[in-house]
Amino acid sequence: MQPPLPGETTQILPGLVRVRVPLPFPPGHVNCWLLRDGEGWLVVDAGPRVEGAVELWQSVFDSVLEGLPVTRVLITHFHYDHVGLAGWMCRHWRAPLLMSRTEYLLTRMLLAEESGSLNRQQQEMGRAAGAPERYIAHLTARPPLYRSEVMGLPPTYQVLGGGDTLKIGGRSWQVRIGRGHAPEMVCLYCPELGVLIGADQILPRISPYIGVLSWEPDADPLADFLGSNDSFRDLPAGTMVLPSHGEPFNGLHARIEALDAHHAERLATLTEALATPMTAYEAARVLFPRVVDDSQVGFVIGEGLAHINRLVTAGTVLRERGADGLPRYRRAPTHQG
Ligand SMILES: [Zn+2]
Repeated sequence: MQPPLPGETTQILPGLVRVRVPLPFPPGHVNCWLLRDGEGWLVVDAGPRVEGAVELWQSVFDSVLEGLPVTRVLITHFHYDHVGLAGWMCRHWRAPLLMSRTEYLLTRMLLAEESGSLNRQQQEMGRAAGAPERYIAHLTARPPLYRSEVMGLPPTYQVLGGGDTLKIGGRSWQVRIGRGHAPEMVCLYCPELGVLIGADQILPRISPYIGVLSWEPDADPLADFLGSNDSFRDLPAGTMVLPSHGEPFNGLHARIEALDAHHAERLATLTEALATPMTAYEAARVLFPRVVDDSQVGFVIGEGLAHINRLVTAGTVLRERGADGLPRYRRAPTHQG
């Protein structure tokens, strides 16, 4: 199947349509899904609040919905490329919002943040990691991000939880939860169709961003990610995965193995390097030696800390306070490479 053009729609199966919404940053697009549902359509993910996105949806609605309304809006997780236009879409169609509780509350929390406080928190994390002053200054100059990219959510929603079954268009879809990329990301599996709407959990080419969030500096999201990937291993080998970024693919199990192997290799590299004590930033640069753009440093620190915290939790690496007060990480004496 040829990848559709930005904004283009493709029928994956009868009553299941892919809407490819362009993003002005990597990975360049997000896939949203339209599922025929009784007397209307259920939308999975509303895409980002970026210029032209509302117009794009209007033309999709005109051309794909066969004159029927959107009756439900399901959002997989709190990231702005997925939740951005949810509020608009629910209001436009008077449609209910479906989300997991954590993702809904997290979106509401981030939207309620007073301006700039997220940037300040990010600065704290950068300072503690020993990041360069240039990056800290870049955060001061940066406009507050989340609120400008996400519309306000409806005041009520329908709670989705792992193990729930949703009836969509007469078929049963199981709610399965992915963790690590986001805390309680909703994925949907339909046994009858053999289709998994995998959100950002299992992507075909890139490995999903697994990062420590600035308000949970000691969390271990990599353990959450690897553990929740295991919960998808019971799906049949022939499952078609519909990812939020990239092309639909078969080969779910091979992809889970590849993601496992990728992180195992990253952890081994870091364990090896931490024979020498390092700040979190120095350790993160071992994993990402080439990235220099200030706008990328936050991701480098977040993902670096996710790997460091995994090793600290496992007891492979020790966290100690350096003479300058910043945490240093070094391999535990019991782990001699
Ligand atoms: Zn995404």
